[in-house]
Amino acid sequence: MRYGYRYILETGSKKHHCPNTDCGKKTFVRYIDTETGDYLPEQYGRCDRESKCGYHLNPYKDGYYQMIKEQERGTFNGTWKSEPIPVRKKAETRPKPDFIPVEVLKQTLEPDRYELNVFIQNLFTKVPFPFEVSDVTKAVELYKIGTIKAGYRKGAVTFPFIDLKSNIRAVQVKQFSKSNHTTGTDFLHSIIDKYHSKRYEPLPDWLEAYNKNELKVSCLFGEHLLSKYPLNPVALVEAPKTAIYGTLYFGLPEQPENLIWLAVYNKSSFKFDKLKVLKGRTVLTFPDLSKEGQTFREWKRKAEEIERRLPGTKFTFSDLLEELAPKEDKNEGKDIADYLIRLDWRAFKDTPQPHQIIIR
Ligand SMILES: [Zn+2]
Repeated sequence: MRYGYRYILETGSKKHHCPNTDCGKKTFVRYIDTETGDYLPEQYGRCDRESKCGYHLNPYKDGYYQMIKEQERGTFNGTWKSEPIPVRKKAETRPKPDFIPVEVLKQTLEPDRYELNVFIQNLFTKVPFPFEVSDVTKAVELYKIGTIKAGYRKGAVTFPFIDLKSNIRAVQVKQFSKSNHTTGTDFLHSIIDKYHSKRYEPLPDWLEAYNKNELKVSCLFGEHLLSKYPLNPVALVEAPKTAIYGTLYFGLPEQPENLIWLAVYNKSSFKFDKLKVLKGRTVLTFPDLSKEGQTFREWKRKAEEIERRLPGTKFTFSDLLEELAPKEDKNEGKDIADYLIRLDWRAFKDTPQPHQIIIR
């Protein structure tokens, strides 16, 4: 017989991001289930910043251990709830993030710029099955996609990250080639910053404040649509371009069964803080392909933890791409957009949404 606890703090030097939103530092030691070797859900652990943070959630103290034992005995009644993550008082005094002014976004949206926009023009002329102007215009208006008019990013597309409350948190800038591959990535605030710095001019006040934000891309691409369409299911992808393709192929969220296509920004931004706005939704998730399906597994594991913390939220993953994609596509990190764009969008017009096929 082995003595000691089944759940222990992980030994060694591996550290995770602290779940206390005020801390978030990579100083967090997680609990391990010594019987399975797996981590406990991500809220269980202890932060090493004892005086500055002090976060410690012990699975023996909030009923988690009891619940697992009951589950294993088959006597669990399904009503257990984890303690909410304690947030320290400091949260009240923490400065709010500063946002990009609406006027700055509006400039990118001037209609005469669209002819310069390589990404949008490609959708009309360069893709195997060119789209109709009216469909693209609707998607452009919905997501407030714009164009860089001049300078070294001339003709690049802008993808704004607008939150639930219509705050503009970041504007990603992407340059595409005629074959719609990315040739450059930037941010609107960096372009404006460079513009002023080169001329030895002071930065605008908003930019001075904005630059102090620790995290720039702090919401989902398309997040503002969640308040507009409160009941629709969600499709979640990595890149804004993929979300736009999804919308063009499967339709706008005007019908309540249609998907709202959202993008997390990059692989590592599939996180609780960013995804908690999806509470109560059904989320069909399409991670990019990756070597040996690493991203797929990582997102899936994180999604399971998020589901536990956000009751009523359901993440669904289709492993269709993972099963069918050749190895080269995985190594190149291809995504669902790379496959969709080869198909005729007309064939999708009257087909059910992907979640109606996959969730069964
Ligand atoms: Zn901490």
